[in-house]
Amino acid sequence: MTKHVYTFGGDRNEGSAKMRNLLGGKGCNLAEMAGLEIPVPPGFTVTTEVCTLYIQAGQTLPEDVKAEALEALRWLEGNRGRKLGDVENPLLLSVRSGARVSMPGMMDTVLNLGLNDETVEGLSRASNNPRFAYDSYRRFIMMYSDVVLGVHKDLFEHEIEALKARTGKKQDTEISALEWKDLTVVFKAIVQRELGRPFPQDPIEQLFGGICAVFDSWETDRAKIYRRLNRIPDDWGTAVNVQTMVFGNMGDDCGTGVAFTRDPGTGEPYFYGEYLINAQGEDVVAGVRTPQPITRAQAEGTGHTSLEEAMPGAFNELLATCNRLERHFTDMQDLEFTIERGKLFMLQTRIGKRTALASIRIAIDLVDEGMIDSNTALTRIDADSLTQLLAPIFDPKEKAAFKKAGKLMTKGLNAGPGAATGRIALSAVDAEELAKTGPVVLCRIETSPEDLAGMVAANGILTARGGMTSHAAVVARGMGKPCVCGASAINIDIKSGTVTVGDITLRAGIDHISIDGSTGEVFAGALSPFPSEVNQVLVDKVLQPKDSDLFQRYSKIITWSNAVRTMKVRTNADTPHDAAVARTFGAEGIGLCRTEHMFFEGERIIAFREFILAKDLEGRKAAMVKLLPIQRADFEGIFEAMDGLPVTVRLLDPPLHEFVPHDEAGQSEMAKVMGITYEEVQNRVRKLHEFNPMMGHRGCRLGITYPELIRMQMRAISEAAINVGMRGIKALPEVMVPLIGTVKELSYTKKEMLDELALVNAEHGSDFSCPIGTMIEIPRAAITADKVAQEAEFFSFGTNDLTQMGFGYSRDDSGTFLPEYVAKKILDEDPFQSLDQEGIGELVRIAAEKGRATRPTIKLGVCGEHGGDPRSVKFFQKVGLNYVSCSPYRVPVAILAAAQAVLEQK
Ligand code: PEP
Ligand code: MG
Repeated sequence: MTKHVYTFGGDRNEGSAKMRNLLGGKGCNLAEMAGLEIPVPPGFTVTTEVCTLYIQAGQTLPEDVKAEALEALRWLEGNRGRKLGDVENPLLLSVRSGARVSMPGMMDTVLNLGLNDETVEGLSRASNNPRFAYDSYRRFIMMYSDVVLGVHKDLFEHEIEALKARTGKKQDTEISALEWKDLTVVFKAIVQRELGRPFPQDPIEQLFGGICAVFDSWETDRAKIYRRLNRIPDDWGTAVNVQTMVFGNMGDDCGTGVAFTRDPGTGEPYFYGEYLINAQGEDVVAGVRTPQPITRAQAEGTGHTSLEEAMPGAFNELLATCNRLERHFTDMQDLEFTIERGKLFMLQTRIGKRTALASIRIAIDLVDEGMIDSNTALTRIDADSLTQLLAPIFDPKEKAAFKKAGKLMTKGLNAGPGAATGRIALSAVDAEELAKTGPVVLCRIETSPEDLAGMVAANGILTARGGMTSHAAVVARGMGKPCVCGASAINIDIKSGTVTVGDITLRAGIDHISIDGSTGEVFAGALSPFPSEVNQVLVDKVLQPKDSDLFQRYSKIITWSNAVRTMKVRTNADTPHDAAVARTFGAEGIGLCRTEHMFFEGERIIAFREFILAKDLEGRKAAMVKLLPIQRADFEGIFEAMDGLPVTVRLLDPPLHEFVPHDEAGQSEMAKVMGITYEEVQNRVRKLHEFNPMMGHRGCRLGITYPELIRMQMRAISEAAINVGMRGIKALPEVMVPLIGTVKELSYTKKEMLDELALVNAEHGSDFSCPIGTMIEIPRAAITADKVAQEAEFFSFGTNDLTQMGFGYSRDDSGTFLPEYVAKKILDEDPFQSLDQEGIGELVRIAAEKGRATRPTIKLGVCGEHGGDPRSVKFFQKVGLNYVSCSPYRVPVAILAAAQAVLEQK
């Protein structure tokens, strides 16, 4: 029989950290801590497998699971010497979610379970603290009603606010036992009114209600969105942890908090956290009260009392426990604790979420501290997140000017680094709407999981309440979004749609606000972004590496990755500038130079239009004479930038109609330039119209119909290489033919190329040669790759077109249906972003295999967008490609992903 329930703590510790998939992150680590004899309130975990069973059974808990849970409960009661529902000295429970990977704030929790009209009296007597008992009961009714019964918590919060208004009390802690007691009566009446039935008094009914509600929360929209964003499979499910309650709300020798063993924002190696005296866990996380700093160092100058000062004994024990756990798990930990009457209990430990900046710093520091090796460090960094290190920051000079002009509104907590400017949205819905027309900063009093879609849409997040571990802070850091939290000077008025500090008032939807998530500063108006430190060192060369710690860390990651990876990383670049930028980021060549991009600018477009609109070969040749020197100069610039590195040049690809003018002014201009009538131009443009341009007259088809185009490009490439060669520059072009479906297209084109090359060599007395290869981007080419390889010296997989043609989804039009496909799980994700390994990947694998069968040394690369997507990069490693190529700013991502791909294969 499958075991569905595992106990932890006390004298029956059945789990361990190795059982993460079954027990979830929280459950397995509670068992691991108990095994280490760290004080953990005992309890039991209902496994993640039950979540799937529960959903399959139409949201019902199987009877055998219930029986196992009751058996575990009996053990727990024996262990604690207290019974659930006992009217003298009741056992109280917390019921909390715990998936394999943490999903902060996404799922539900119920605390203080087991209270009812009778047990609350027992708790009051046993604790000799009626205020604590009724505070716990009102919390329980509110939370259980919200989470399990579906009565929104606002209805209860409204009553608390009304009570405070009546009595003039400001803080929850000022409210008396009697007042809380009266409020529980009001709360129960709300439930009766809303549901037409009383609040459940039976603790066993409460327990199963709580367990089911946690499983239900796996299926909420917010949890689904979060899973989609973080690529968490739906069938992983969540576990449910039922744990003995310990109380942080029993008085002033009690408290609760969260701690990080290192700063989650910057990664700096100091103990860090927040706590509240006389409170329960949700008070800290929900941002209801702004929590206090844990350490003396953190508290300095804030006017707050740290835990270190308020409860030195418990603090020291906490610090020692946290350090021990960090060493045990060899990574930064995010912990939850409660202090009950001076005694410390650990409620959770997990690998802490962190910003990109922090993840790099922590990984490197752990290597320096001897806890992990450099290869392990590489696996700890999300390759995608490296782009955050390259993202802009605010221009320091402009920031100073804004300050001088009195536009610094306030300073909150620097919860998520980075700079964001945008129009103000006061709700998640508004943020989604405004984001359609430009950048947005979501400004909220505090965020809750319902705001998730708005947070995704916003460029930055600003909250008036809540600390570094509030929902907004944790989620923003996870998303890599700039975030300022707890900016309490800000007054957000939803009714009038304004954000005010002092005499500055900004209007939602109209005015801009700028937040600096690295410093916590909030500015009125739009600040312009400024290059990151990595950019300043590498690209702009205005900062010395020694003056930038950030750059030095970035550079270490790249160096470690380079030592491990076997795949090369190239870049897609069409200009000397882009090529040079990519080279500074570590690109080892150009994998795709789209020559059509060279024709779009200035004079070139006119000359190229002359070519397209010419009525005969003679006219086309005349236009070619103008184009040749322009192309040659372009190639010389690129070869210079990539001196000594390979440059894959692709012959012209896109449909001709993309180049011709479609407006009257443009067409008249061409008529004038070419000395023909406007009608003639119009006619020619009309003839170029295609119903399906992506499948039309593009790629190698252009050169086959206009061979002079192939010849001009081949001449420009070879002459450029010869010219720069005379200046001591080593040009290594590799020329490829786009969009072939049959080997004969390639052989025809190749013959034209080689004939022109022979002419060039004869004219220049040179013996220049270069590899000639092809894109593999049409399924037929992939399937007949053994034949194609007879002509091609290399393949470059064009996975954009291969996806388009393999699925039959138009690249230009898929936006109208792909999001629905993903939402309805027809596809796991957009195949244009991450390679569909099962289908399109199979085409790549077949082509690689067949290509090698014909030509064992054939060079294989990829130049579609997938070349910069970490998961796709890992697939390309498995297939054995020689290199990936991606846009310049994704080169560092591909470098790290290529290293991770090797480490994952080991
Ligand atoms: C491709 O199809 O993957 C490719 C790189 O070519 P383009 O995007 O220019 O069609
Ligand atoms: Mg293509």
